[in-house]
Amino acid sequence: MRRRTAAEAHATHSVPLAEKRLADYAAVAGDDTIAELECLARPLRGARVLHISSTAYGGGVAEMLRTLVPLMNSVGLDAQWRVIAGDEDFFAATKAMHHALLGMEDLDLTPERQSAYLRANADNAASIEDTFDYVVVHDPQPAPLRSLRWSDRGVWTWCCHTDLSAADPSWWSFLRPFIQLYDAAIFTQPTSVERDLHLDTIAIIPPAIDPLSPKNRPMSEREAANTVSAFGVEPARPMLTQVSRFDPWKDPLGVIDVYRNVKREHPTLQLVLIGSLAHDDPEGVEYYCLAQEYADGDPDIHLLTNLDGVGAAQVNAFQRQATIILQKSLREGFGLPVAEGLWKAKPVIGGHAGGIPLQIQDGVNGYLVDSVEQCGDRVLELLANPKQARTAGDRGHTVVEREFLSTANLRGYLKLFNELAQPSPALRNAYPARDAAGWLSTSIR
Ligand code: UDP
Repeated sequence: MRRRTAAEAHATHSVPLAEKRLADYAAVAGDDTIAELECLARPLRGARVLHISSTAYGGGVAEMLRTLVPLMNSVGLDAQWRVIAGDEDFFAATKAMHHALLGMEDLDLTPERQSAYLRANADNAASIEDTFDYVVVHDPQPAPLRSLRWSDRGVWTWCCHTDLSAADPSWWSFLRPFIQLYDAAIFTQPTSVERDLHLDTIAIIPPAIDPLSPKNRPMSEREAANTVSAFGVEPARPMLTQVSRFDPWKDPLGVIDVYRNVKREHPTLQLVLIGSLAHDDPEGVEYYCLAQEYADGDPDIHLLTNLDGVGAAQVNAFQRQATIILQKSLREGFGLPVAEGLWKAKPVIGGHAGGIPLQIQDGVNGYLVDSVEQCGDRVLELLANPKQARTAGDRGHTVVEREFLSTANLRGYLKLFNELAQPSPALRNAYPARDAAGWLSTSIR
């Protein structure tokens, strides 16, 4: 048998996607929004778009692209999504990079890590055969692709889903020159834009959830209750739920501490921690085991993963059945499960980190916390005041409807592509220029 070359071992591959029709979103987003999106898409018809990310399953980027790419196709663009391949050394290096960029200390930028990172990127770059009008590279893992495909035509945008505000300087200095070669960058919110990044175009496009996806579609109380029962969780008892990768920044051990504190006063409380184990996340299993050990055999702590059969529909059911949804992140990009919980009109308590305050106004449509103690106090308060919990959830639903649905996400990209294609006076007049960040934060959203 012929041996695979290194380049073949690290070749990008295409992600198969189900078709989606923008018109189906009219019932949720409104006819005006659909008409606006069609209008924005008109000048871009037939444009070839490539999204590149590091994984097709698990995590917020995969979740969003599964809807964004089909919706781009639905409005007449020719969009596809490819994921890069990598070996263990590559994913170990990018995991270290991920942690260091979020502010973890003592992670050396060793020559071995640099070389594993660059080697896999070089192989992946060599495997891209076509050229595109727009290439959107998501997150740091594939960031060097732009430098490695420098002679390609088309507009290249780097989309940052990571909170870089506490980034380790040596790792960011290593990464920054690769980003500097892009035509544009997308960030979740103005405060996550790195000050020393000098690109002509910086767009603010917050992530979003798909209201029609199996994870967010309407589901009857009965279906949700039956689903959680099948996993040994009792629908009639109070339940805290956090849906997140098993990762130190998502603080699953802190969530267990919160549960234990509250359980002293509410002995029937249950905790459900759901975390998919993604292939670009070698630490996931390790951290899952740590959480399991920490749970110490408590029968009311349920640690569930995709390997137990918890897919999108089951996540939907657990979020709907939760009495309170937690997202106790210590650092966060955006925190899609917050939007998912708010969309389901649930009271959500989130860590004061990254994009969570963008979604939750503390005390209005949810709660922001900085410690296990604060989180426990909020849980107790909400368990004692179901009306307050309902009000927060209802307001949360409205916020997501207004700002964080896939249609808003699509709008951001279409506006950006139009702007990058033709910075014409007409367009500039339509979206008046201010300073770059100010203009884009109003126009692209
Ligand atoms: N998710 C999931 N199953 C899991 C864990 C997470 O479907 O077991 C989804 C979750 O519902 C959300 C996304 O993965 O849509 C995680 O989003 P987040 O913004 O937290 O992204 P990450 O930091 O993991 O990239």
